[in-house]
Formats: sequence, C-alpha cells, structure tokens
Amino acid sequence: MLLRARGLSLTPQRRAILRHLSARGGHWTAAEVLTSLTGEFALASRATVYSTLSLLRELGVLADVPAPGPGGEARYDVNPEPHQHFVCRRCGLLEDVPLAWFPVVIPSGVTPGFAVDQFRIVAEGLCGGCGADRSD
Ligand SMILES: [Zn+2]
Ligand SMILES: [Zn+2]
Repeated sequence: MLLRARGLSLTPQRRAILRHLSARGGHWTAAEVLTSLTGEFALASRATVYSTLSLLRELGVLADVPAPGPGGEARYDVNPEPHQHFVCRRCGLLEDVPLAWFPVVIPSGVTPGFAVDQFRIVAEGLCGGCGADRSD
C-alpha cells in the first residue's frame, strides 16, 4: 500500500477513516467526514479527523477538489483516477466527469518558463434534479 511504501504507518483509527472514505467514494468536507464517522467510531474526535485528512492529503492519498463545499470549506476527493468536476450552481451537487468531456490541448511554447502538465476544470450548471432537463 502507498502509505507503507513511504515508510509511514497509520494508526488503526486513521486506517479506519481511510477505509470508510474509500468504501463510499465522493468528495468530503472535514465536517462531513466527522458526521459520517460519528455513528461508526465512537472515539472519532474532531482533532483526529482533521489531522488525518490533512495527513492523507499531504501523502497524495486524498486530492483537493477545486470547488469548495458548503460554507466554502475545502473538499477532499477519494477518487484516485484523473478526472474533472461538475458542480450544480443551485444545490451544490458535485460530480466527477471524465477528462474526455473537456479535452484540452496544451499548445507548446505558449508558456515559456512553465511546464504545464494538467488542467483542473470545474464545469458549472444545473444538475438533473435542479431542472437541467426542464425548459422552464
Ligand atoms: Zn442541483
Ligand atoms: Zn472528484
């Protein structure tokens, strides 16, 4: 496992938090993680959850999501595959979308001094539940 390869060990509780998120997928604010864990781990403290999330992000296990969650709180992405995001302007729904939806060709030589190797795209609009398919 990635963490072991880096010579790091996770406490059983941190490992359990990672398992919990991986099994569910999606994008989480720290507050949502805490709420979700509370039923499952009686000892999940706010401090443990927050420090575990930032550790997992530093290790590259969780990625930052370029669209903040409710209240502008940072979100963590459990999906390890490269992808972009769609966010519903009305309800805040956040979905993964394939890279192929927004093909980006990086012209060579237009950014001298920079080596651009990825774009983070957030598409905005309305999800199905908020009326994307309605004409009104
Ligand atoms: Zn919506
Ligand atoms: Zn994602």
